[in-house]
Amino acid sequence: MTFLTLSHLEKSFGPTRVVKDFNLTVEQGEFISLLGPSGCGKTTVLRMVAGFETPSSGSIAIDGADMVRLRANARNIGMVFQAYALFPNLTVAQNVGFGLKVKGTPAKEIAGRVEEMLDLIGLPDLGGRYPFQLSGGQQQRVALARALAPRPRVLLLDEPLSALDAKIRVSLRNEIRAIQRRLGITTIFVTHDQEEALSMSDRIVVMHQGVADQVGTPFEIYNTPATRFVAGFVGTLNTIEAEVKDGATGRVALAGTEVVLHRPLPAGHVTLGLRPEAVRLGQGACELGLSGQITEVDFLGSVIRLRADLGGQSLAFDTFNAAHSVPPRVGETVVLGLNAADLMVIGA
Ligand code: ATP
Repeated sequence: MTFLTLSHLEKSFGPTRVVKDFNLTVEQGEFISLLGPSGCGKTTVLRMVAGFETPSSGSIAIDGADMVRLRANARNIGMVFQAYALFPNLTVAQNVGFGLKVKGTPAKEIAGRVEEMLDLIGLPDLGGRYPFQLSGGQQQRVALARALAPRPRVLLLDEPLSALDAKIRVSLRNEIRAIQRRLGITTIFVTHDQEEALSMSDRIVVMHQGVADQVGTPFEIYNTPATRFVAGFVGTLNTIEAEVKDGATGRVALAGTEVVLHRPLPAGHVTLGLRPEAVRLGQGACELGLSGQITEVDFLGSVIRLRADLGGQSLAFDTFNAAHSVPPRVGETVVLGLNAADLMVIGA
């Protein structure tokens, strides 16, 4: 059931259109990420949903009710920001209970809800502390509890993990998702971190210059990018320039060989995309074996990322680290295996 609908949303600041014809329907309980580079308009979309910005045109509806004319505090939406934004002079418990107190909720009910929220975020004993006595990760969990305490209908998260160090980010990522699932709360999460979006979301909206380039599951976004921008922004992608030899069967020439893609192509040149993990060291059972020379070896732990030159075409690829196998060295000649089905057409 559609719960949140954004239709033809537009926002201009002066002459600059920063959000253009933005459309999105969100199901009850869904976790949606707005993913894109800095300045693409993600935060502006979120702020319009929250009620901190007024759309230049278009509509926002929650459960069928129009939101645009409603003040921010009448929308029943919870929000967590990048900088923890806790009240420094209030205790953790007072911070978490703040929204309820403003609404005039009886003290006893607030105390009960605060306890429930502190349990939910795994900090049941820290209610008496002040924000400065907490780590960054703990402060962000308190900010989440504060946003959730009034039982909002929608939760908005604006880059809540970006100020934290890498290890905490990953654990908090999982924790936020687990809490969101447990409560079944409809959530929009803004991030410029593709790994965060891929790992947390039911669906991702990839934004580029104010436009939603693609809306899809992480699987769809990664495996079948709709635009060249999405293909390049999400994950690592090799781009290969190929010459179309036969448009009907999709026979193309690339890196000194010919491949049939089994899909119609326009005459001329096409740009193909190939993920590093789709390339094998050695032909093995792959359709194609291309000879190349290793130019880079990057040991990343479980994976070794390599780069090879195939007569002017550079290709990044991955191989798993195995204790008893020695990775190739720079300058070594190798055979790379790949399959035509893994080549994406990303531009004609
Ligand atoms: P970031 O991740 O850097 O926050 P973003 O994708 O969230 O980027 P927005 O904050 O939505 O981007 O900003 C989109 C564009 O709108 C930017 O070019 C920004 O400078 C501009 N912008 C945002 N708010 C205002 C404002 N109040 N007045 C003028 N321009 C603004």
